Amino acid sequence: MKIAIFGAGQLAMMMIQADKDKKHDFIVIDPNPNPPASHYAEHIQTEYDDATTLNKIANDCEVATIDFENVCVDAMRKLEKTIPVHPSSHALEICQDRLKEKSLFKKLDIKTTEYYPINNSNDLEKHIDNNKSYILKSRRFGYDGKNQYRIIPNKKIETDLTKKECILEEFVDFDAEVSLICVRSLTGNIFYYPLVENSHTNGILSMSICPSSYSNLQADAEEISRRLLESMNYVGVLVVEFFVSKGNTLIANEMAPRVHNSGHWTIEGANISQFLAHINSISGELNNDLSIDYMPSVMFNILSEHISNKKMNMLKNDYDVFLHDYHKAERKDRKLGHITHISKNRDELIQNMDAILDIL
Ligand code: AMP
Repeated sequence: MKIAIFGAGQLAMMMIQADKDKKHDFIVIDPNPNPPASHYAEHIQTEYDDATTLNKIANDCEVATIDFENVCVDAMRKLEKTIPVHPSSHALEICQDRLKEKSLFKKLDIKTTEYYPINNSNDLEKHIDNNKSYILKSRRFGYDGKNQYRIIPNKKIETDLTKKECILEEFVDFDAEVSLICVRSLTGNIFYYPLVENSHTNGILSMSICPSSYSNLQADAEEISRRLLESMNYVGVLVVEFFVSKGNTLIANEMAPRVHNSGHWTIEGANISQFLAHINSISGELNNDLSIDYMPSVMFNILSEHISNKKMNMLKNDYDVFLHDYHKAERKDRKLGHITHISKNRDELIQNMDAILDIL
């Protein structure tokens, strides 16, 4: 099958690498020069809504997907008239806008933090209670903690974020952050990986552990995600991010309509990676009898600076580790690669994790 991927970052790269038997041909579209996936597939270097490119994809490809959720929804809607696009423009439209996403949570009776739409600084004054903490987030184009401002009780608010459309969220004093990686087939079968526990540094994911210490919440997470997947008639991988409250309940934070950084461990840690699961589902090849198996795994993001050969050799000498390099130049807070470690059991994993962190 010929598959177009809008966005040619490391997620597209790992989707292409997952097709080990080379069953498919890939074309990647990305306005940037030399993105990670361009080393593995034909790269069209244009904007995502370029008319000539959309026509070429409609003529040459059988299905399209994304590695970047902020592609132009109208362009995907146009493409959808000719070939299937998964996730659909409808799902993308919801996931690109925090207000639409939260409204869907509410409609489906999914617990989320209290939130208020904010269109100007007057709205902000109207909703703020000086004794509470909040996070102000732009409705669109916020990822890795970008376009967010923390509001602290009785502290002067200094932000120009309200020039954009925003939502104001009550701050959640959570115990942990977890994500559920789900995949839904063209025929509506849904498969779930075990909940992953995530740690962030400056709003950017730094480490993911699977299984999490919240397996008691797995059934709730699956039920919530099933409602979301079915309501959007979603096909492919969807990741739902949650806070675990102090009372041990799930509070939905946001959704990623694509493969996700918290699922990178599945390449070595599961019998089917999130990348292959996504490609198989959009191409109609996801096995209906699939049962997801995994080994305890931890993933560390390599941010800002590459890891030296010396450190990598030290890690390889003592642990089962796998390095993924995204072929990117160093830049502050940039995701340059990741390392996965897998272990026989969770206790050993946690012990090794601390030792690996010391070396990193
Ligand atoms: P997001 O882009 O919504 O995933 O936010 C990035 C990170 O900011 C999350 O992973 C949390 O660590 C933190 N965060 C976001 N929203 C809230 C909230 N309402 N309460 C507490 N922390 C939050």
